[in-house]
Amino acid sequence: AAKNSGRNRFAWFDLSMERELQARNELEVGLRNAIPRQEIVPYFEQQIDLTTGRLSGFEVLARWEHATRGLIVPDTFIPIAEETGMIADLSLSLMRQAFLAAKDWDAALSLSVNISPSQLRDAWLAQKIIKVLTETGFPASRLEIEITETALFDNLPLAQSIVGSLKNQGIRLALDDFGTGYSSLAHLRALPFDRIKIDKSFIMSMTENTESAAIVTAITRLGDSLNLPITAEGIEDIAVEERLRGLGCGKGQGYLYGRPTSIANTRRLLAERRLLQNAASEAGEPDE
Ligand code: C2E
Ligand code: MG
Ligand code: MG
Ligand code: MG
Repeated sequence: AAKNSGRNRFAWFDLSMERELQARNELEVGLRNAIPRQEIVPYFEQQIDLTTGRLSGFEVLARWEHATRGLIVPDTFIPIAEETGMIADLSLSLMRQAFLAAKDWDAALSLSVNISPSQLRDAWLAQKIIKVLTETGFPASRLEIEITETALFDNLPLAQSIVGSLKNQGIRLALDDFGTGYSSLAHLRALPFDRIKIDKSFIMSMTENTESAAIVTAITRLGDSLNLPITAEGIEDIAVEERLRGLGCGKGQGYLYGRPTSIANTRRLLAERRLLQNAASEAGEPDE
């Protein structure tokens, strides 16, 4: 009997693993088609200048508009895109769509796009991004690239040379999810960052948790000493916003200001605030 139940347990284990693998394979196949069909679309999350309260730009976040499954969030498909080498095409397609959408938004509005550390292994990455900027007519000076701190880069000289080419064009560099990765402080010296983004896990708990509050305070001071402006992500209520403003944190984003939303909704939001460069023609336009 013991032998039997053991075998059954294995059979069950195999089955659940097989199902998981099959689900992953379906996503992978789907993703391969979704990228050229532009089913991976940019959503835009407002970034606010905390000293003036004004909109300063948007973070571009990938969403998969799946025909049958609805909207899929990036944590589900970005890792698959990274493992299968599709992340490069996905990323450039997303940038192309975002730049085309944003080029006639108010010239003071910036875009922040996320790239995966694995993209910094492609010696042509800077040239590819610059090509998309040129083709879409979106100015490099309005672009910021966010790199999440993970493991240290396996080919640091190559990453540094790519980043150097991007910065020569006037593109800025932000260190994303600061404080969550391995050896955060070492990252700050590895690449010439222009901004630090404090991870939302610290921000969301800073009014209830003294350790989180202390960490946020320490990071803003670090930013001051290194002359690096700070963005706080995950601001969900006014109390947090006020604490951050008190600490001198320059920018913020989070559900307090709005959830990430589609190109069409973002256009509507900007039209209402008269932040479209061709705002005059917008009034007569039918619903998108
Ligand atoms: P991230 O770059 O740190 O982006 C911030 C994430 O926090 C977004 O999740 C955003 O929707 C969420 N968020 C923002 N404000 C709040 C808030 O107030 N409360 C809460 N609970 N969440 C908030 P999202 O869009 O699901 O993206 C998750 C991650 O996926 C991103 O984290 C980024 O690392 C990655 N990602 C998204 N788009 C891309 C992309 O185009 N390329 C790459 N390589 N990674 C991407
Ligand atoms: Mg980000
Ligand atoms: Mg990130
Ligand atoms: Mg982040």
